[in-house]
Amino acid sequence: MTEQLKLILATSNKDKVIEIADILMGTPFVVTTMKEEGFNPDIVEDGKTFEENALIKARTVHGLAKNAYVMADDSGLCIDALDGAPGIYSARFCGENSTYPEKFAKIFEMLKDVPEEKRTAHFVCAIAVVRPDGTEFTVRGEVHGILHEKPAGEGGFGYDPIFYVPEFGMTTAQMPREQKNSISHRGRALKAMAEKLKSELG
Ligand code: IMP
Repeated sequence: MTEQLKLILATSNKDKVIEIADILMGTPFVVTTMKEEGFNPDIVEDGKTFEENALIKARTVHGLAKNAYVMADDSGLCIDALDGAPGIYSARFCGENSTYPEKFAKIFEMLKDVPEEKRTAHFVCAIAVVRPDGTEFTVRGEVHGILHEKPAGEGGFGYDPIFYVPEFGMTTAQMPREQKNSISHRGRALKAMAEKLKSELG
C-alpha cells in the first residue's frame, strides 16, 4: 500500500480546501487544515511579494507541524495602470472594513483618465509548499484580463465582478464555478503545485 502523506493547508477557507482536495485526488496526499490540526497561529503577513507572504504562512504552520507537507497561498489583483496596486494589499485596499463596491468605486475613480486599452489587470496566486524536511518551493499562477467599466455577475467573490476576461466575453463573476477554477490564477497555481509534488514522488 502507498504511504499516505499529510498535506496541511494554512487556510480555513472552505472553497480553497475543496478545490485543493479535488486537484490532489488520486495522489498519496491526504489534505487537512491547520484548524483540523488544532493550530491557530497569529501570522503577520509582512512580506513584499505574494511569494514571501505565502512562505511566511507556510513556514509558520510547518513550525508547529511534525512530519507533514504544509501549503499556503497568497493572491490578489494587480492593475497595470496603478503600478500593480492593490496587489498584496487587495483585501485591505481602501481600508480593512471597506466593502467591495467601495473598493470598485475607488478603482474607477483612480482610473478615470486611463483609456480603455490601458485598463489591463491580472490576478496572481502564489503557492508555497514546505516539505517535511523543511525544504520549500513556490509556484505562481496568473490570469489576465481588463477592468470592466461596471460590476457584472453574481458568482465568485472579491474583485470578480470587475475582472473581464476577453476570451470568454464575461467577468469571472459571470463564469460558472468550474470554468473560473479552470482558468483562474489559483487553479493554475494549484495545477503547477500538484504537478511538482506528483513528479517528486515519481
Ligand atoms: P487571499 O490570498 O485569499 O487572502 O486573497 C487576497 C484578496 O485578493 C482577496 O480578499 C480578494 O480581494 C482578492 N482576490 C484573490 N483571489 C481572487 C479571486 O479569485 N477573485 C476575486 N478577488 C480575488
